[in-house]
Amino acid sequence: MYDLIIIGSGPAGLSAAVYAKRAGLNMLIIEKNPVSGGQIIDTYEVDNYLGIPGVNGFDLAMKFREHADKLGAEFADGTVTGIEKVSDNAKGKAVYKVNTDNGSYETRTVIIASGAHHSKLGIVGEEEYIGKGVSYCATCDGAFYRGKVAAVNGGGDVAVEDAIFLARFCEKVYLIHRRDELRAAKILQNELFGLGNVEVIWDSVVKEIQGEDKVTNLKIENVKEKKESDLKVDGIFVAIGIHPTTDNFADIVKCDENGYIIAGEDCATNVPGIFVAGDCRKKRLRQIVTAVADGANAVTAVQDYLIL
Ligand code: NAP
Repeated sequence: MYDLIIIGSGPAGLSAAVYAKRAGLNMLIIEKNPVSGGQIIDTYEVDNYLGIPGVNGFDLAMKFREHADKLGAEFADGTVTGIEKVSDNAKGKAVYKVNTDNGSYETRTVIIASGAHHSKLGIVGEEEYIGKGVSYCATCDGAFYRGKVAAVNGGGDVAVEDAIFLARFCEKVYLIHRRDELRAAKILQNELFGLGNVEVIWDSVVKEIQGEDKVTNLKIENVKEKKESDLKVDGIFVAIGIHPTTDNFADIVKCDENGYIIAGEDCATNVPGIFVAGDCRKKRLRQIVTAVADGANAVTAVQDYLIL
């Protein structure tokens, strides 16, 4: 039986693994993606992680993984399908079984660090054209749009970073945002507004994605003027935020109305022995630095729980 099972190998999970190994815990980290790192593996440039401005997200993820490997962290592949309480030990503390599509593991504590995934627009044409002009990852697919016209939908950090990134390849980039003000960090906005081939389409939403073999047109609506128009594009990058990957845990730990697992800074959920770290935790700021901090705090709370 493990002392600790960590679910997910993004920055929160890998940070937890490093702290757990240093604490001498018998731990296992379960990852569903063959490449560790979570969302940052798709990030071209990370400019706000202290001490390494401009680092490539994939490179940073590899560094995190190397650090965990160096300390001897144990990894297993699998998608976790649920956590169940199997018994109480002699001290009256629970023993949990973590079930995956690749086997089950018993443990005394769990840190859920399952992260988050891209939200979808849920409009006509979105599913149909995934991989044929609809993308959720500019750094993965941007190079296919060299010399072409692309749209980005959203107004947060990711949308603006995507538009800036795409402007390097594309003849023209449209940033479509539903309000008249961007949510993204000011430093990113300044960079965006300085680019000659980016045009922001304000107060507008994408109503439908159209095409033949590939995307050719977007039906957009100006929500203030209630006016619809066509926008000819070769592709659209959807960057409208993230959704926590917590569906398989909602029956065991308490989540808020958006699916984020509720826990304070000690990362303890409402269930003794189950902790949460990273983007799937309910909190104000979701960044790499807050995810790695969660990993460290969660392991500290795990140690306290195991000792008491
Ligand atoms: P976000 O900050 O939640 O922004 C989502 C954007 O999409 C918002 O502008 C929102 O509009 C818009 N939106 C949401 N639903 C929509 C819909 N149905 N139709 C049209 N537009 C919609 O998400 P994000 O940009 O993916 O960033 C996620 C988190 O990662 C954030 O906390 C962000 O700060 C962080 N992040 C950090 C970095 C970094 O540190 N360098 C880089 C990337 C991301 P409204 O503004 O009107 O709500």
